[in-house]
Amino acid sequence: MMKIKLSNEVYLGMMALANMPFKTEVLALLEIEKTDKGYKIEGMYIPYQHSNAGSCIPTVEGLEEVLMSVDDISKIHGWFHTHPPSYGLQWSGTDERTISNLFRSWNEVISILGCAGRLRGRVNIPFYSSIEAELIIPALSHVNNYLLNSILKEVQEKVSDRVVM
Ligand SMILES: [Zn+2]
Repeated sequence: MMKIKLSNEVYLGMMALANMPFKTEVLALLEIEKTDKGYKIEGMYIPYQHSNAGSCIPTVEGLEEVLMSVDDISKIHGWFHTHPPSYGLQWSGTDERTISNLFRSWNEVISILGCAGRLRGRVNIPFYSSIEAELIIPALSHVNNYLLNSILKEVQEKVSDRVVM
């Protein structure tokens, strides 16, 4: 089975978002390192975004800001998003379309879904169906209040619930 390893900070950040009882989705871009066993997620970036209960779309400026803040933009080919708790941990039709669209920019798409405190991961490579991946989480990770508060602040600042059509 394909493995996706999460760094401690990335894992805590994803769990913080997956545990928040938001009514809308939240998305983040992921910085990916390829390893012999699969992939490692080394960074998570929350762009400015418009979000509603069924989709979340980064703003152009939000995307630019993330891409300018990383050393190697070729490593940004991962997509994390949450679902509201009632939605469940299933990729939706909108999610499948988002992944297809991401292939315009990325050769492969690592996607992680978070909902109600749980995470699920997939690897999507063009011309193959998506591959369910095993998430390798840090052995020792404790709740870090500083990180939780900074993520909450970031979400309040960057996620607007204006519905965009
Ligand atoms: Zn979704």
